[in-house]
Amino acid sequence: MSYVDEVIEKVIAQNPSQPEFHQAVKEVLESLRVVIEANEEKYRKDALLERLVNPERAIIFRVPWVDDKGQVQVNTGYRVQFNSAIGPYKGGLRLHPSVNLGIIKFLGFEQIFKNSLTGLPIGGGKGGADFDPKGKSDREVMAFCQSFMTELCKHIGADTDVPAGDIGTGAREIGYMFGQYKRIRGVYEGVLTGKGLSYGGSLARTEATGYGLLYLTKELLKLNGIDIAGKTVCVSGSGNVAIYATEKATQMGAKVVTVSDSNGWVYDPDGIDIAALKEIKEVKRARLTEYKNYRPNSEYHEGRGVWSIKCDIALPCATQNELHLDDAKALVANGCLAVCEGANMPTTMEATEYLQANNVIFAPGKAANAGGVATSALEMSQNSERLSWSFEEVDQKLQNIMVNICHNMVDAAKRYGCEGNYVAGANIAGFEKVVDAMTAQGIC
Ligand code: NDP
Repeated sequence: MSYVDEVIEKVIAQNPSQPEFHQAVKEVLESLRVVIEANEEKYRKDALLERLVNPERAIIFRVPWVDDKGQVQVNTGYRVQFNSAIGPYKGGLRLHPSVNLGIIKFLGFEQIFKNSLTGLPIGGGKGGADFDPKGKSDREVMAFCQSFMTELCKHIGADTDVPAGDIGTGAREIGYMFGQYKRIRGVYEGVLTGKGLSYGGSLARTEATGYGLLYLTKELLKLNGIDIAGKTVCVSGSGNVAIYATEKATQMGAKVVTVSDSNGWVYDPDGIDIAALKEIKEVKRARLTEYKNYRPNSEYHEGRGVWSIKCDIALPCATQNELHLDDAKALVANGCLAVCEGANMPTTMEATEYLQANNVIFAPGKAANAGGVATSALEMSQNSERLSWSFEEVDQKLQNIMVNICHNMVDAAKRYGCEGNYVAGANIAGFEKVVDAMTAQGIC
């Protein structure tokens, strides 16, 4: 049996009930097959893949807190410190009821390659809890965040592990966590990114993932002879990534006609009104049903359906496995040119394969959404030198990083004879640097 197949089998056997982790490992290792098979003997002897798929450390902890009725609630917190070969662990904290060890491991594993692709010195990690901030008062969110950080602070630090936001963890949650870290550890350091501007945050971090997605999408389309201006775009999600992807796509002259949340989706044939979207989601923290009050011409539909709308470019920006095979078929039938992932692993494996087989340009999340973590690394640099850069400076660096990622991904695919397969290209480019660093550091 080939080394790749052997390791995939082991991962499935040793990590039961972690389907998302199995999926992420399979997707990465399958696409690395050409590279691994060329070095099979050496990698096998060094147990390189076994070391890569086993986190350096996984911390699971109790998070007790008191709700507004005086009732004690208990959540489970996680931090998976996956790989520190190229820098301190870096990756977000997800707060969502669906969070479990398998989901955090899939995200942490993907993060290793994404962080490597940015060209910046950051290792891979991820964390979170099965806590749902939705419907909680500010006091309840603070109580949860303080309790969560009381335990987490023993394991992180500006030079060891620097968490950031993710689903459910925005500026409010990062602020509460940062305050608690400082109280307990007694140090003012850049231990978290995504901080507010008044206490060490970076300009353009809020926009970075969505903007970065569009910088990469534009460059990739350009390399394929397509201009983004004038194109129709479907976006899913209406959180941080979706909002700023919609904003930048619109600034580039494209028209975004959909957004969604976990209850339903909006179709606005005149183009999504970004000011309205921001007010609903960032200010009121409300549901998308409100959008019709701002734009009577728009439609609101319950459930899934974003991918049934005819578009040139699809940008899934909500969550994992939200674009299924049927959706991919609908997109192809409607003449979609490109799918670029704003979320982490939003496209199922069957859907990805179908899109690629039908010549749809497909940019995987680990390349396309790397702008968030890249700008987090720029926030770390600013914190280390105790200086703040202007919005334009950060945004320019972000653009350069995304264009570089795009070219590295395209070139790596070409080098290994799989031109146009950007999943393989992104994985290979990310993998090469990590393996080089792991090998140089000996067996550890
Ligand atoms: P937010 O919490 O800001 O927004 C998430 C959006 O997705 C919301 O609209 C949410 O709807 C929707 N959503 C969440 N879960 C589901 C679900 N099960 N079904 C349908 N819709 C759902 O998160 P972000 O925008 O920060 O993150 C979105 C994705 O991008 C995630 O995969 C994240 O890991 C990834 N990502 C984020 C980065 C960042 O910098 N923020 C960086 C790189 C990747 P509702 O409000 O109803 O829950």
